Order: sequence, then C-alpha cells, then structure tokens
Amino acid sequence: DWCYQSQFSCDHQCNPNKWDHANSDCDGRYQSPINVVTRKTLLDERLTPFKFTNYQQIFRGFIKNNGHSQVGVPHLSTISGGGLSTTYKAVQFHLHWGNSKGPGSEHTIDGEQYPMEQLHIVHMKHHYTDLSTALADQEGVAVLGFFYEKSNSANRKYDPIITSLRSIKAADGNTSLPPVSLAQLLPPEQNLTSFYRYKGSLTTPGCTEAVVWTLFENTIPLSSDQLRAFFDLKFHDGKPMVDTFRPVQPLNGRQVFRSGATVALTSTALLVAALASALGLSQLN
Ligand SMILES: [Zn+2]
Repeated sequence: DWCYQSQFSCDHQCNPNKWDHANSDCDGRYQSPINVVTRKTLLDERLTPFKFTNYQQIFRGFIKNNGHSQVGVPHLSTISGGGLSTTYKAVQFHLHWGNSKGPGSEHTIDGEQYPMEQLHIVHMKHHYTDLSTALADQEGVAVLGFFYEKSNSANRKYDPIITSLRSIKAADGNTSLPPVSLAQLLPPEQNLTSFYRYKGSLTTPGCTEAVVWTLFENTIPLSSDQLRAFFDLKFHDGKPMVDTFRPVQPLNGRQVFRSGATVALTSTALLVAALASALGLSQLN
C-alpha cells in the first residue's frame, strides 16, 4: 500500500519516503522526479524536435480518479525523433497537482516547483502491447512532462477535462470524456523544441526504472478557476485529493541533457530584466 504525504500527517508506513516498503525499486538509484539544475545540463544536438503523429486524433476516453485522474488513450498517437531510439505510442495521460495554496509539480527546475499540476503523457515502445512488458525494458517507456502556469484567462481547450472532473470527485469514480485530442492539451508544436532529457523511473510504486523522461520548457496556461477543479477531487478516505506529487529524488550522478533550442528559464528572465532596465522600461512593472 502507498499514499502521498498529504494523506497522513505523520510518518505513516505508506508515505513517499517509505515507498520501498511497497516496492524495493522505489529505493533504486535512478528514481524520478528530480530537480533539474539548468546550468549543469549538457547540450545534446541529437535532441531534435519531436515528430508527433496522430496527436490531432480526436478520441473518446474514460477519465478515472485512481489517485491521479488518469485517462487511457487509444494507441494511435505516436512520438518519434526528440532523441528517442524508436517510435513510442501513447498509452495514457494523468496529472499531478498541489493544493489551493501550494505548488504541485513533481519535477522542479532550478529548485522551483511549478505553481500547479504537471501533465504526464505515458508512451511505450511501439512494438509492445502492454505497459508491464514495456517496463521490463530499460528504455521501454517514454513520458512527456509538461508544466502548468496560472493564467488570467481560461484555457478553453481544457474544458472537456475540467468539466469531467466534477463527475469523478469520489475515489474510483470514472466517466467518459467528451471528445479530445492530445494536441489540444499541449502548447503549439512549434513551441515544443526546448526540453530536458534524462533517464529515470515511474513516480508512483512500482517506481520501475524504465523511463526516458522529457520535460518541456514551454508551459500550459490554466486559470485559477480551472486549477481549483482539481482540488475538489477526493482520496479513498474522503479527504481532499491534494499534493499528489512525489518529492524530488537524488540524481546519483545522472546527467541531464538539454535540446539545442533550450534557453535556461532563469537566464531568459534575467535577460528580459536587463533589456527592460536598459530600455528604461522597468518602471512599467
Ligand atoms: Zn505522473
């Protein structure tokens, strides 16, 4: 049995620091999530832009509240390129989030935990038929991770997801999803050329170390009303389902790579600040 820290206030057996009781792999050397220190990342020219195939395909999925609101995806959408060794097909996507006051992304960039949920689209190598077989391959699974940021206006492309959350408030609740495509949940494809890459694990037990991770720099906007819909979901015990993220894990000597187009977020901010002050615009803030 395992749980997130928010479900138990004390050092309960199921909390994320003791997931190795649920599965010994959770105590492994190459676990996820991690904190990405951008100045220690290594430029890798092989990390070319991804080719997204059938990401525009509209499908009718089921969304279920299994601890992190998961949606199964027909195996029609695939990714290749992006430094991957082969084509991977989409299996499911799910989200992780914090609470109404605190941040909730799993991965962090330069120690910053993004304000809100993280979207994980789970893929497996195209020739596998089920995830458990793919997990026996060290590079069997590829997860695309996206950060969210709070925006002033609602992201209408997320309406089908947000609306369906109301029907799965209780644990194990599930409902059919209005037609959606994976593409509509993501930033425009031309904004997906900047990303980080490292090898890690699933972020829930079994914690299997079979995942090629991609973390995109470009974020997805959601309004505060839309974000709030996630905090109404409930765990099995009826408590609010909040803080559904695993804390960051040690790198243990792993190298994180970055694609050619990646500009460290902090340097961008500094550059903008420098330009603004150079142009005498800083008082406009
Ligand atoms: Zn995840």
